Amino acid sequence: MSKYFSKKYALLTPYTPGEQPKDTQYIKLNTNESPFAPPPSVVQAVETEIKRAQLYSDPECTALVKKASEIFGVNTKQILPTNGSDEILNFAFMAFCDKDTPVVFPDISYGFYSVFANLHGIPYKTVPLKSDFSIDYRDYMHANATVVIANPNAPTGLCLPVWQIEEIVKSNPNNVVVIDEAYVDFGGESCIPLIHKYDNLLVTQTFSKSRSLAGARLGLGFACESLLADLNTLKYSTNPYNVNRMTAMAGYTALCENAYFMDNCKVICENREYTANELTKLGFEVLPSKTNFLFVKTDEIGGRKLYEELKKKGVLVRNFTSERIKDYNRVTIGTKEEMEIFLQKTKEILKEQRQ
Ligand code: PMP
Repeated sequence: MSKYFSKKYALLTPYTPGEQPKDTQYIKLNTNESPFAPPPSVVQAVETEIKRAQLYSDPECTALVKKASEIFGVNTKQILPTNGSDEILNFAFMAFCDKDTPVVFPDISYGFYSVFANLHGIPYKTVPLKSDFSIDYRDYMHANATVVIANPNAPTGLCLPVWQIEEIVKSNPNNVVVIDEAYVDFGGESCIPLIHKYDNLLVTQTFSKSRSLAGARLGLGFACESLLADLNTLKYSTNPYNVNRMTAMAGYTALCENAYFMDNCKVICENREYTANELTKLGFEVLPSKTNFLFVKTDEIGGRKLYEELKKKGVLVRNFTSERIKDYNRVTIGTKEEMEIFLQKTKEILKEQRQ
């Protein structure tokens, strides 16, 4: 830390992104990216758009927002595109929490939530997941705090039904409820339709998982106009051109190709069920996932050890250090071929372990 670093950030522990190794060619099952490249139409559109890169992007992303309004069944004033969904989550913590309005989220969830809270000096409370790692929606009713829930949750992969989310939203009329739907396209049910009914709900989605654009950085926020006005105040006070023109074009074209991505999601779900069955046969405990990853453990080998052994064999998965989940690994679902290799390497490791 330099002597110039502001004291208010001195104690901040930043978010640790998953490994992005440059040395070895790994089978990358560690950051929940899509194994499928964007379709040629998206690539072409970006190639054309970069020829206009001397001009600032449209701060309102008009074409993207219009297309998204058709796909998601909302009006254009109920959508805010951002630089990945991390950015809209950051804006939400800034906009809807402060010293007198703390934030509450599950103890096991997306690691960025506590980072945002610390970054902005917001007091936060975590609610333990139940012993089966599910969320008890009643823990968030009448919370008297801003509520943030990933649905499906990460890294567990478990999902709450929309009626339970609605109970949370209904019972917190004086606080905003943020539902992070980064993984919703893999079998969850979106609560975007609830934004027509409640003025305290913000739903966030991302193009990083189901739409193969993690590297382009595009997220969307859905809420009533007044919540979005607050978020826009923050956007225009930080970076009005937060979505660059290539990304806005990639996002627009991706939405024009929605069927391609939804078909890919079906393939991922099939591969997930196949992998879950095979791991169960090998004696793993596998949580029932509605996402593009599995959260798994076995009594035969510790979570960290399995992660390390898989890495030696060229397969990267994600292991977490926090006490409650250190025996688990989060395995992103890739192509069928990738999952076969992952299973094969896992079998080899278990065999070596037994010797
Ligand atoms: N929410 C959850 C639950 C996530 O796992 C991620 C991905 N790391 C994000 C939000 C952020 O995704 P992005 O910024 O790529 O849209």
